Amino acid sequence: MRKFNFSAGPCTLPLAVLEEAQAEFVDYHGAGMSLVEMSHRSSTYDAVHMEAMAKAKSVFGAPDDFSVVFLGGGATLQFAMIPMNLLSDGQRGAYVVTGEWASKALSDGSYHGDLYAAWDGGSEGYRRVPTAEEIVIEPNTRYLHVTSNETIGGIRFNEFPDVGVRLVGDMSSDYMTRAIPWDLFDLVYGGAQKNLGPAGVDITFIRNSVLEETNRELGAYLRYDIHASKNSMYNTPPVYAIYMVGKVLRWMESQGGLAVMESQASRKSGLVYDAIDASDGFYRSQVDRESRSHMNVVFHLPSEELDAGFLAEATRRNMSGLKGYRTVGGVRASLYNALPVEAVDALVELMADFRSANA
Ligand SMILES: *Cc1c(COP(=O)(O)O)cnc(C)c1O
Repeated sequence: MRKFNFSAGPCTLPLAVLEEAQAEFVDYHGAGMSLVEMSHRSSTYDAVHMEAMAKAKSVFGAPDDFSVVFLGGGATLQFAMIPMNLLSDGQRGAYVVTGEWASKALSDGSYHGDLYAAWDGGSEGYRRVPTAEEIVIEPNTRYLHVTSNETIGGIRFNEFPDVGVRLVGDMSSDYMTRAIPWDLFDLVYGGAQKNLGPAGVDITFIRNSVLEETNRELGAYLRYDIHASKNSMYNTPPVYAIYMVGKVLRWMESQGGLAVMESQASRKSGLVYDAIDASDGFYRSQVDRESRSHMNVVFHLPSEELDAGFLAEATRRNMSGLKGYRTVGGVRASLYNALPVEAVDALVELMADFRSANA
């Protein structure tokens, strides 16, 4: 029996997609071999690849002046590639530090460019995102990096800050769950394994005018312009991950696309926040109301013993992946697009039952 999988990543994927991939695995559409065994230059793989690229642009609603690239190395490689490609001499990168992922983006990127924190929520315990007025942009700033959703702390930008410099966004954990205000961005990126497919591929959208100006003095793999000009086939791409992303995007489209994903995300997370708010303090979220994540709902019970009891009962009820991140503790419910609403209903029922039994 499949579990209600609340894992933060890699995460649950649509059953229909998994079954389709299973049926095609050994002999891909009569090719006499699996997709993972054939040349990435074959016409069969090429069709899969180009469809996934086209779907990424259309299902995300990316405008024509953006290119999409599929890259190995996850979102983590982007932490370094962004300053390598975007900064030239004398330019700086600004970072809004909203939690663990933003901190990593800043510290990793600092080996490759002159970066600084334009706001840091650490002293407040990363409970919220800043307003645009709180973000301090210094001279010669080329971009402002934001983490649209902090997967560990459970906070998100409800609105992206318009501060007069273009944004670069890590959207790993809320890709395809919200409309992107493309005008504000030069680049958005994210690993696939939170909403879009298995691990192994990052999807980066980059403005074409920016691509023309990226740094060329880098090893080939590190250059956005090379990947873009070769349709992400400069080297052997992560073929299976790309194939799966293509299928998941098609599934999302069949469900009604981005607008439907966005309203489901808001509805599913709303159910869990309502259960927290109605619990008379039994369930506590440290996140400010206006910064609540729609993807990762983080909360605590009155004691660590109760946290553990809650997680044990969740396991008995066929739910998995609810344990909070190791530095945060408590419970984290990740509600990615493929998580059915029945799973959220089951969680909310558990929250009510556990509270009556233990409050
Ligand atoms: C998971 C995650 C990452 C890291 O992704 P990898 O693909 O493991 O490199 C980066 N940023 C955010 C917001 C994430 O959720």
